[in-house]
Amino acid sequence: MSEIGQRYKEILATVGNSTLVAVSKFHPEAELMDAYNEGCRTFGESHVQELERKHTLLPSDIEWHFIGHLQRNKVAKIVPYVSLIHSVDSLRLLEEINKQALKVGRKVSVLLQLHVAAEETKFGFTLSEIEDMFQATAPEQFTGVCFKGIMAMATNTDDEKRITEDFENALSAFSRLKEKFFATSADFSIRSYGMSDDYLIALRHGSNMVRVGTSIFGSRGY
Ligand SMILES: *Cc1c(COP(=O)(O)O)cnc(C)c1O
Repeated sequence: MSEIGQRYKEILATVGNSTLVAVSKFHPEAELMDAYNEGCRTFGESHVQELERKHTLLPSDIEWHFIGHLQRNKVAKIVPYVSLIHSVDSLRLLEEINKQALKVGRKVSVLLQLHVAAEETKFGFTLSEIEDMFQATAPEQFTGVCFKGIMAMATNTDDEKRITEDFENALSAFSRLKEKFFATSADFSIRSYGMSDDYLIALRHGSNMVRVGTSIFGSRGY
């Protein structure tokens, strides 16, 4: 078995019933196939051009998740086939996804990206921004979109206490949104948080989808 395949299986064994998204950005197709050959069918990419290439070259039973910052002018490219967009971070982006989805006659699954980290630079909504948005336009009005849950990133720190706090905040924001806007929707159920360095903490604090890159594929060298 390949080293990547081995690491994929090892990590998969630690996530229990949660979904493992293998974050393959910057890694060549052959390395994705190492994971694929051990059963991996869910890959996360963060650049549209790279996703386009890999989607064309690799087997059609792969579910492609888009996890990076998404520009509105690139939405139309991925909407026909993307399985889940984790990084919806503005109303304008949401509207564009909705529009392009309706155009191709498909419902696109999305997560709302929450800003919980200390860094100013990370993208995402605050909880109250999402509440305001849905008070103005109810989620059901976005008929091309299926709201599946939330995505978050913890502060980039070794301080486990701070990371835990961020994840707890993500979890409580999820619960609040669920109660307020999605109480009757079984779809709204995903809590995507946790990466290579913190996914075990995330799983202890309510995550049910982790996005792991480096620990499977090695460093990306940029
Ligand atoms: C790159 C990336 C990951 C994976 O990070 P690792 O530390 O390599 O596991 C997860 N989520 C997002 C949004 C990313 O951009």
